[in-house]
Amino acid sequence: MNLVFLGPPGSGKGTQAARLSGKAGVLHLSTGDLLREAVKNGTELGQQAEGYMSRGELVPDDLIVGLIENKLTAGELDKGFILDGFPRTVPQAEALKTMFTKNDMGLDHAVLIAVGDEEIVRRLSGRWFCPTCQRTYSYPANQPKVEGICDDDGTKLQRRKDDEEDVVRNRLDVYKKQTQPIEDFYRNESLLVEIDGEDSPDNVFAAIEKAVG
Ligand code: AMP
Repeated sequence: MNLVFLGPPGSGKGTQAARLSGKAGVLHLSTGDLLREAVKNGTELGQQAEGYMSRGELVPDDLIVGLIENKLTAGELDKGFILDGFPRTVPQAEALKTMFTKNDMGLDHAVLIAVGDEEIVRRLSGRWFCPTCQRTYSYPANQPKVEGICDDDGTKLQRRKDDEEDVVRNRLDVYKKQTQPIEDFYRNESLLVEIDGEDSPDNVFAAIEKAVG
């Protein structure tokens, strides 16, 4: 199973990718998670990426393509994968295609989880996470038992800096300008499957499973 998940921020693609990777036993690779980890650890990559991320902009293609290329050449993608948050631009999609051709690999599907703008802003402004265990919460559907406190370890919950409303609007703008064109890229390659992401999480998951077989 070799998949990429596409969709605007807050479409639920991270949650769905994690659920599918757990069930299918394949690697779930989220470039957003890798970058947040790099920022937290203060690595060179983290220092280069931090400013772009806090403004809701994309980090430069060469940084992120290099990151994926390292994983691929280390054999980490050999047993199947779900790429979540990559590719994000047409040049990234082209670079991925070139990497796959060189390594005799290919994609089975590009899964697009479609959600409208207002729903995205509503969802992201209710999203919180635990800085200790990384568990995420969302109001009102999946809220902690005690307001603002992680159920698992009692840590005070935080918002992602890039979930503030003005940054969310910018991320949506960036998505439309830079990421949406890759929907056509994968449509032309007959790889795109489109899922209604405004349905309940269980129904979205069922639709994804059906679409990817
Ligand atoms: P995400 O968690 O996927 O929403 O990603 C959070 C942030 O990380 C994005 O707003 C970008 O700044 C950066 N990022 C993640 N993946 C990529 C990518 N493939 N290309 C460029 N920037 C990315």
